[in-house]
Amino acid sequence: MDFPTVCPACARENRAEFTDSSVHALTCAHCGARYCVFLRKHRFEVLFDLGTRASMDGYAREAVASFAAALERFFEFYVWAFTLERAANAEQEFSAALAGLEGTWRHVASQSERQLGMFALAYLLREGREPDFLTARGLGTDFRNRVIHRGTLPTRAEAEAYAALVFALIDRLLTELGPGAAHAELAQEQVFAAHLAGLPDGVTAVFEEHPGMFRARRFGGLAPTLKLQAQPGPPGQGAEQARKPGKAVNDARAYQQALFRQALEERGALLRAFKGPPPGGSGQG
Ligand SMILES: [Zn+2]
Repeated sequence: MDFPTVCPACARENRAEFTDSSVHALTCAHCGARYCVFLRKHRFEVLFDLGTRASMDGYAREAVASFAAALERFFEFYVWAFTLERAANAEQEFSAALAGLEGTWRHVASQSERQLGMFALAYLLREGREPDFLTARGLGTDFRNRVIHRGTLPTRAEAEAYAALVFALIDRLLTELGPGAAHAELAQEQVFAAHLAGLPDGVTAVFEEHPGMFRARRFGGLAPTLKLQAQPGPPGQGAEQARKPGKAVNDARAYQQALFRQALEERGALLRAFKGPPPGGSGQG
């Protein structure tokens, strides 16, 4: 998968393949200028956006695989943010904390179950309560396993419901993290700084922040406005309706879907804002 970049020398477009490090060394195909794109985006964001793209293109199975991977990488992000935040609060040196974290992560890097265990403890320590959403139902595990391990072909609707579940969970945890997430951002900036220091002469550094699904909600200046409309039922029956078993589950699902839909819309609006008025348009002035 790739994304468009703009050459800083001639302003024409070159496409770049996503890299694990978020650092992309490029040579312009049009003018030969060398530049290096630093993409301010975390792996879970890239994967979630790839899943969204796959889903829109009709590749439901690939979409589910990307959403599942996004959730796993988000748990990693959470552990990163939590650990570095804690170190900062204890006035531990950032680079020492980061080195300790990287070393520790190597012990769990190849097994997602171990990573889930680290996340569970991180959540308990940070929030002071059990991560009660870590159930098969809360994570959509059965569906995910059927698709990824048993080759079940999901419908587009199923893939979107799974996307909505993953989105709502990540969105909720990002909200709980709040400014704590910035500590994981700092780790990425550190990686960028190291690359930047080693850039050869004549290579231009370009920093890019793409408005992905989560950034659109958090940093796009578009305030979350979602209010789940209660379905107008027969007068006087609303309250009883809400307490019936099964209703809560349906509400949660409806909420996830609505949240996901709104995020898609916000992202679309933000992308249009980034690109500016359409060519030939007179704009606002
Ligand atoms: Zn160029």
